[in-house]
Amino acid sequence: MAETSSAAPSTPALLPVFARLDLAFERGEGAWLISDKGEHYLDFGSGIAVNALGHAHPHLVEALKAQAEKLWHTSNLYQMPEGERLARRLTEHSFADTVFFTNSGAEALECAIKMARKYHAASGHPERYRIITFEGAFHGRTLATLAAGGQQKYLEGFGPKVDGFDQVPFADHDAIERAITPETAAILIEPIQGEGGVRVVPTQCLRGLRELCDRHGLLLIFDEVQCGVGRSGKLFAYERSGIAPDIMALAKGIGGGFPMGACLATTEAGKGMTAGSHGTTFGGNPLAMAVGNAVLDVILAPGFLDHVEKVALLFKQRLAEIKDRHPRIIAEIRGEGLLIGLKMAVPNTAMTGALLQEKMLSVGAGDNVVRLLPPLIIDDALVGDAVRRIDQACSRIEADMGLPQKKADAR
Ligand SMILES: *Cc1c(COP(=O)(O)O)cnc(C)c1O
Repeated sequence: MAETSSAAPSTPALLPVFARLDLAFERGEGAWLISDKGEHYLDFGSGIAVNALGHAHPHLVEALKAQAEKLWHTSNLYQMPEGERLARRLTEHSFADTVFFTNSGAEALECAIKMARKYHAASGHPERYRIITFEGAFHGRTLATLAAGGQQKYLEGFGPKVDGFDQVPFADHDAIERAITPETAAILIEPIQGEGGVRVVPTQCLRGLRELCDRHGLLLIFDEVQCGVGRSGKLFAYERSGIAPDIMALAKGIGGGFPMGACLATTEAGKGMTAGSHGTTFGGNPLAMAVGNAVLDVILAPGFLDHVEKVALLFKQRLAEIKDRHPRIIAEIRGEGLLIGLKMAVPNTAMTGALLQEKMLSVGAGDNVVRLLPPLIIDDALVGDAVRRIDQACSRIEADMGLPQKKADAR
């Protein structure tokens, strides 16, 4: 069939489930994306917290190229040396003893949910299968992870919600305690809610959850798909709390842009997951494992996470100044490390739109928040560049609202 004109077809070849911007990118370099029109955009969205090391990082490109010339796929019927190496490194740097690799965040959560249920079945309590989750949570788009997230707008029209999830208000300790029944298997929480609006769960609350789980024989599951792998300034966000989960889901940043995820667990939590109890065709594939190891090479290098914490602190200080200059636009700065949320005093879409006009990418979130998720490799100069664009974007919105203008900051 002949190529037709560029006019939008009436039957789109791509399922129209995304409201895409009229913007396409051709290549990327570090924190920059270059459009098909040759325009440079400062990428503070990182493909929704995925491109942890920016675009075309030389070490990642090299690892993928080298692996591509050797072997792409063999299946989990055989040994996977690179996968074993990556699993060993993840366990050495976390609470976990064992790892299951997946292709996405939702699949990592599916593994976590199945593992928690199986743990209790293997302990002689198959009736304990229910999992407590939190309002504002996001755990993915499969049927079970949608039920876990509990967002009505995503569940609508897809038949009966998968059973086994009990949702409680965010950070309400008493409500959690009341929700625990003899059927409860686990508590599932994002230590920092991403999609929900960069809501940081207070350390005290995470400790309280650990204590509740221990007292009631429940497993504690952390969803670090968005906040994990250096994004919070620590390798894992739970490290700030001084407690650890029994099971943890990772994805997004762990592949630096290559689709992969992982479910980490203690030996005890994983005791029900014996040969044949779970599986995947693509998970742990050699290409993904090569890139995953390369991502860790960079993030675990001495000083890298210190750099993330330092540059994040500077960014937050500068953002606080911007908020003071534009109190009618920005209401609050939230987050940990380079998982930053601007709680807006105007609709968040006004801000993402104004930033786009300043050629800067950001991502909207719940609770009227704009997420800033720069690659972890940004330096002080890029923070300065971003802050200038955010300042301009605020002025742009003020002008649209007919508010008096502040003179641009000279720095
Ligand atoms: C993105 C995300 C998921 C889902 O990951 P997918 O790779 O899209 O399946 C799950 N949990 C959290 C916290 C996320 O941010």
